[in-house]
Amino acid sequence: MDVETFLAELKDHLTAHQIILDREGLSHFSYDATEQRFMPHVVVLPENTQQVSAVMRLAYKYDVPVTPQGGRTGLSGGALPVHGGVLLSLLRMNAIIEVDEKNMQVTLEPGVISSDLQQELKKHHLFFPPDPSSTVESTIGGNVAENAGYTRAVKYGVTRDYVLALEAVLPDGEIISLGRNTVKNVAGYDMVSLLVGSEGTLAIITKICFKLLPLPLKRITLIIYLNDLVKAADLVVSIFKAGIIPSAIELMDNISINTTADHLGAPLRREAEALVLVEIDGHHEGALREEANEILALCKGIEGLLEAKIALDDTESDRYWLIRRETLPSLKALGKDHLEADVVVPRYQLPFLVKAIRALKYSPAIKIATFGHAGDGNLHVTILHRRRNFAELSEAYTILEEVYKKTMEMCGSLTGEHGIGITVKDYLPLQMSESEIALMRRIKAAFDPKGLLNPGKIF
Ligand SMILES: Cc1cc2nc3c(=O)[nH]c(=O)nc-3n(C[C@H](O)[C@H](O)[C@H](O)COP(=O)(O)OP(=O)(O)OC[C@H]3O[C@@H](n4cnc5c(N)ncnc54)[C@H](O)[C@@H]3O)c2cc1C
Repeated sequence: MDVETFLAELKDHLTAHQIILDREGLSHFSYDATEQRFMPHVVVLPENTQQVSAVMRLAYKYDVPVTPQGGRTGLSGGALPVHGGVLLSLLRMNAIIEVDEKNMQVTLEPGVISSDLQQELKKHHLFFPPDPSSTVESTIGGNVAENAGYTRAVKYGVTRDYVLALEAVLPDGEIISLGRNTVKNVAGYDMVSLLVGSEGTLAIITKICFKLLPLPLKRITLIIYLNDLVKAADLVVSIFKAGIIPSAIELMDNISINTTADHLGAPLRREAEALVLVEIDGHHEGALREEANEILALCKGIEGLLEAKIALDDTESDRYWLIRRETLPSLKALGKDHLEADVVVPRYQLPFLVKAIRALKYSPAIKIATFGHAGDGNLHVTILHRRRNFAELSEAYTILEEVYKKTMEMCGSLTGEHGIGITVKDYLPLQMSESEIALMRRIKAAFDPKGLLNPGKIF
């Protein structure tokens, strides 16, 4: 790589305030939510697609690696410049270009913060369901690149289900438009879906068009405490068996409950082994009340129920959903290191996954917190340890591998929403055959023959 000549020519395309070279500035962009750190040679902050294209063209010419980055909330290290080179931050491309109420669509740049989009759409009485718990920091571009999930994915699907069209810049600087702003489109291969979830390894996403839904008018939250985590998983399965599709079903185990209660000062039932939060939404209060009562009746039939109640009002609902959203930050605030398995299994396997996690043997120095999107069969198994203590670190990795192996036995996936990045790539062969990985490598080479875009990720 010829960084010196690259930098000399870069100044013809970007202004001085769009290029960061000082150590403190570089350091700010060198880490993400994995808390791993890799220094880039330079950070660039383009403000439009032409500038992204110019950076890519130059980087391609001088063999300089480029790592795209959004809000740095990624949990698999996808936005870390592991090979140095250019860190391309999309944070300044943050315009909501058009809210098209007639077609129920929004077109926007990738650097828009997730919660800013949510606020804007509320003004138009429109609903964009994908809203990860990292909403106040994550960007739309990062969500698309990771195919982010969120609490309501159980009813509304994941980010990919809302992307109609994309503009992107290829590693050699060419600007391409993919997809159409139509509800249906089956012309050719589904290139939009290929880019969604590609973790910034195929192209830089510079513009996105999402489809939207009408805002649901009513919602009810149920708060359910149990004294057994497996019974809680059984309850999740039985709600679906009863023909009810909630808009969210989330699970927190005893460690998650207590850690979040401590961190937020929230009055949760600390003796409970499980807290299940269920949300149902729609347009008719009466129909929702009926479903909520059905869920309460199901709860009463479950041995180990401590309490099941309907939240009094939106304020109480919001309080519980905030508690759930703050689970990971609360665990992080404990000051321990954490390894996280973002595993997902077919929903009916959830009780078996929970049993397998409970059966793990580990020393008292290690703690395992389990929480997540139970309605999707997606749990975040968080192994708390001290990285500097070699015995604890190696034990944590042994547990992580065991969780992955159990997940594979249940026909699940290594990651439901956080991606492969650098943290899961060594385990990919547990899930994918050699030929499947080879095919992915050929796709990567077709987009990025020099291997310069986000190198060291996924493979
Ligand atoms: C507290 C907390 C809660 C979270 N909750 C959820 C959750 O509910 N659901 C969920 O799915 N995830 C969750 N995450 C993980 C993370 O927030 C998501 O993966 C999010 O989508 C990442 O967005 P970001 O803007 O921070 O991306 P970054 O971390 O900056 O980047 C993520 C990946 O996207 C690529 N990328 C970023 N922008 C672009 C672009 N414009 N073009 C091409 N590639 C790009 C990067 O190269 C990288 O590979 C959570 C994380 C935290 C810390």
